[in-house]
Amino acid sequence: MNDIEQNLLEIKTSIPEGVTLVAVSKTKPVSDLMNAYEAGQRIFGENKIQEMTEKWETMPKDISWHMIGHVQTNKVKYMAAFVDLIHAVDSYKLLKEIDKQAKKHNRTINCLLQIKIAKEESKFGLSEQDAITLLNTEEVKNLTNVNIKGLMGMATFTNDEQQIHDEFKTIAFFSEEMKTKYPQLKILSIGMSGDYKMAIDCGSTMVRIGSSIFGARNYQ
Ligand SMILES: *Cc1c(COP(=O)(O)O)cnc(C)c1O
Repeated sequence: MNDIEQNLLEIKTSIPEGVTLVAVSKTKPVSDLMNAYEAGQRIFGENKIQEMTEKWETMPKDISWHMIGHVQTNKVKYMAAFVDLIHAVDSYKLLKEIDKQAKKHNRTINCLLQIKIAKEESKFGLSEQDAITLLNTEEVKNLTNVNIKGLMGMATFTNDEQQIHDEFKTIAFFSEEMKTKYPQLKILSIGMSGDYKMAIDCGSTMVRIGSSIFGARNYQ
């Protein structure tokens, strides 16, 4: 068994049933992804549309491709034919474009709203109030080819575990609150290699794990 298969197996056994594992394969070659595929992994996450598209073209077609990075509106069209879940939706403009491009392909694209939980200025995402406003907007309710299935968050890049825990708890609480009004918001995408166990303890239903499966990346 190679390292990737071994890592994948270990992680899978540490994740409870009901939590979905997204194997974050950005910057990694198709041969690495194929190792994970052969070990049974069918959900891959990428953060660049062009890279994801190239991998989609060469790899088996039963893979669910997740776009986990920030999305520019003008690039949605390149992934609309195949992307399964877009994690980082943070504006009505983007949602509208996803709906438009999904229609062209006669399909529905699943989306998560990215909620800003980190204290850092650089992080993308909606405030809780902006997310509520977005979901309550008539235009959003009338979009036919997008399916908003939950929330996504990224904790501050820090070693302070208490802070990460607090940020995860904040979004988990908001997620529970939102589900009472919008039961379709079942997914809570939080947790990466360094903090996924904590994220699961806080209520994560989807973890995005890269380096713990594929090894350290040289960049990004
Ligand atoms: C790269 C990335 C991950 C995975 O990070 P690891 O620390 O390698 O597990 C998860 N989520 C997002 C949005 C990323 O860009």
